[in-house]
Formats: sequence, structure tokens, C-alpha cells
Amino acid sequence: MSYPTVTAAALTAPLTFAGIVEQLRDTFRAFPDCRKPGNNTRYTLEDAGLSAFSVFFMQCASFLEYQRRMVENQERSNAQTLFGVHAIPCDNQIRHLLDSVPPAAVAPAYRYLFNGLQQNGYLDTWRVHDYGYLLALDGTQHFSSSHIHCEQCLTKTHHNGTVTYSHQVLTPVLTAPDKPQVIPLPPEFISRQDGQTKQDCEINAAKRWLAQWGADYIPLGITFLGDDLYCHQPFCQAVLDAGAQFIFNCKPTSHTTSNSHFTTHCSISSA
Ligand SMILES: [Zn+2]
Repeated sequence: MSYPTVTAAALTAPLTFAGIVEQLRDTFRAFPDCRKPGNNTRYTLEDAGLSAFSVFFMQCASFLEYQRRMVENQERSNAQTLFGVHAIPCDNQIRHLLDSVPPAAVAPAYRYLFNGLQQNGYLDTWRVHDYGYLLALDGTQHFSSSHIHCEQCLTKTHHNGTVTYSHQVLTPVLTAPDKPQVIPLPPEFISRQDGQTKQDCEINAAKRWLAQWGADYIPLGITFLGDDLYCHQPFCQAVLDAGAQFIFNCKPTSHTTSNSHFTTHCSISSA
């Protein structure tokens, strides 16, 4: 049986490492450039993006420093030959270039990877009978400080009056029972939205994700997985209205009414 793809468009690059780098290069090339005319433009957005990608790909924080020394000594580096970086920016230059780029600008890379995996048949074995694809929703914190903060920070005021600032993100992934890997889908950052005065939260981010990406993935057949946080009527209804199913954890302590009905039903059934 065949299933619809996220988009009918042909892959912009073959699903190989070189193809992935090529697609990333195209994605980074389209990033908005925050620099004013006349500023130092020695480094391109492509170089900044590919340099950042190389550090995460190699899982080595000092990878770029080592590559710079290779260029000095050998006039070539793995950053150039493997990742196609023309000039290697320093960490601060990468931050300066990438910090102002909206997260949505990375979306084409997620689409390409998902389409590539699906069109090449890699996702066929990820489908779980009756449930389709299992899409796990969960949030994670990727920055926390009691000193450094910005306008998008989430804040938590403690009893002693001190404040902790943090950044969190919702990271939806496809998962399957017998697969050690997960397939990341576009993230949704948990941060105060334009015009909002209240803090953002994970469930609001999930609602935004559903509104923005649901139509792309749900036609494939999706069952959402989530912890107790998601197990509330409005979000469950939103998932059903979007045409998906859900399996959410439902703790008895936070769902006393549902638990009471369930306990009563089970007692009657087993009587
Ligand atoms: Zn911040």
C-alpha cells in the first residue's frame, strides 16, 4: 500500500551526505542577513550555518578550531572538503550571523529530510499497524541562566525573589517501537509570541505546531504520543479535529474525574 508524501515535489538533492550538505547550503543561503551594508561581510550565512552544522555533526565543540589550524598548516581542512565551508568563522561570528535568523527559516531542511526518507522507502517500516506513524511530543530546555536573559526568555521567580531565565523548545519526533533512532520534525520554540503579555507554555507551542504543520503530516496517518501535560480535552479535541489519533499519559492524580469513571467502570466490568 502506498501513502501520500508530505509534498509531491521531487527531492532537490539526492539523499546522500553530499545531497544533505547541498540542501543545507541552499537553506542557509536563503537566511536573512542582519548585517548592514558596509559591515564586514567576509563570512556568508552559508559558511556560518554549515560551520554550526559541522560542530553538531562531529559532536566536537573544538572541531572548528582544529579546522582553522589545519588551514594554517595544510591550506585545506575537513570543514572545507566535507562540509563545503569556504571560510571558517569564529564562534562569536557564527552567533552574530545566526542569532537573528527565525527558526522557521530552517524548515526546508526538515522537509527535504522527511521527503527523502519517505520517497526512498525508509519510513515504510516505521508505520505501526492501526496507529500509522507515532509522533511523540515533548519539550526540552536548551538554555538556563540567573543572569543572562533576553525578551524571549521564559522566567521563573523563586521564593527568595531570584529569577531563572530559560529557553525551551517543543521537539516533535517520529518514533517506532523497534527503532533506536527518531526522526526529528520541525520544532516549535516555547517563547512569548508577538503581542502576548503572558508567558508561553508547552501546550500552546503544541497547538501552534498542530496549526502550522498538522496538514503536512496528519494525512500520512498520525498518532500523537505525549505525557500527562497533553491529556486535556481542548488539545485532545484539536488533535481529533485535525484528523489524528492520540495516546496521552493520564495520571490519576491530575485527572481525578476521569480516573473515578474509569475505576467505577472497571469495578463494574470485573464484578
Ligand atoms: Zn532569552
